[in-house]
Amino acid sequence: MNAVLYPFCASPFFVWLTPITRLVPATSSFAIPCNKNEKKFAQICMASLTLQYYGAIFKVIVIKVTKSERDVVEHMKNDIFSLKGKVCIVTGGYQGIGETVAAYIADAGADIVIFDISDATEVADRIGQEYGVRAKAYICDVTKPEMVDQCIAQAATDMGTLDLLFNNAGICLHKSVLDCDPQDWLRVIDVNLNGVYYMARAFGKFLIDNNKTGNIVNTASMSATIVNIPQRQASYNASKAAVVHLTKSLAVEWVDKGIRVNSISPGYIRTAITAGSNPEYQKLWIESIPMKRMGTPEELAGAVIYLLSDASTYTSGADLIIDGCFTIV
Ligand code: NAP
Repeated sequence: MNAVLYPFCASPFFVWLTPITRLVPATSSFAIPCNKNEKKFAQICMASLTLQYYGAIFKVIVIKVTKSERDVVEHMKNDIFSLKGKVCIVTGGYQGIGETVAAYIADAGADIVIFDISDATEVADRIGQEYGVRAKAYICDVTKPEMVDQCIAQAATDMGTLDLLFNNAGICLHKSVLDCDPQDWLRVIDVNLNGVYYMARAFGKFLIDNNKTGNIVNTASMSATIVNIPQRQASYNASKAAVVHLTKSLAVEWVDKGIRVNSISPGYIRTAITAGSNPEYQKLWIESIPMKRMGTPEELAGAVIYLLSDASTYTSGADLIIDGCFTIV
């Protein structure tokens, strides 16, 4: 409103009114001594006073948008969560979080590539048929950098391109530091941290070499932030804390390449990892979760799609904790 009024009120005739109007409530009235001709003038003044008063409350702020901001907005589609036309790799997609979230990513329109140490062809075929997308599985051990490079190259050839990566494969070991021998320690770090790094590196290199932009979502864990009890799992906690910081580091390193890198940090989720745990532990976990239940893999899908899609174009290096309030109490 001010933007409309100011040019009018800034005219020489009205300039002197402005300081008065700030002191006058819109509903109050006062007499201005005047003759018949002056009455009209007084009415105009009163109208201006009222408009000025409201103008002081309802300011119009003119926002200047830069070209790069405008470009981003122009590229955002109406359906900002759509992944149509994208090809997404999901690691650890044979089962659990990877399998379920891959189906939701397909439902959002993306073609699916599953990398897993086990043969996930049946999963890929099922997803392809159910969601009408192309889907293909590759046996890929993410701890083997040469295998990762080969699988990325093969998938890019088979699918025509690659756009998105849900970097999710991981393992957990319940062993105290003293019981955890170096082999155990290295295995957890190798899958959970090195595997995430090898995948992100090969995928990022593919995008950069092909002059493409893309998005990565790494699966960390709430164990990156807190120390779980009663189980002892220092190797897992350390590996996931490193994934969160690797995510932030990659986000900054690739910010000028148009590659966004974020992570999700699930709490206790009902999958093979948790189902195989000591039932007494599971009881204790559920008692400690404010929502009084474990999460399901389906409850992570929305966050992953958000971070993979144009809905999150200004988000990189973020870690989204999804844990039924576990870590905030
Ligand atoms: P999951 O059901 O065990 O699925 C993990 C998948 O990754 C399995 O198919 C597994 O294959 C595969 N995998 C393991 N090592 C691999 C390797 N070297 N290369 C390729 N694939 C490999 O576990 P999930 O619960 O879905 O976990 C998925 C991710 O979420 C993990 O990173 C996990 O740490 C994280 N997470 C889980 C929870 C939870 O409560 N479930 C909480 C926080 C974070 P195999 O079964 O053959 O080993």
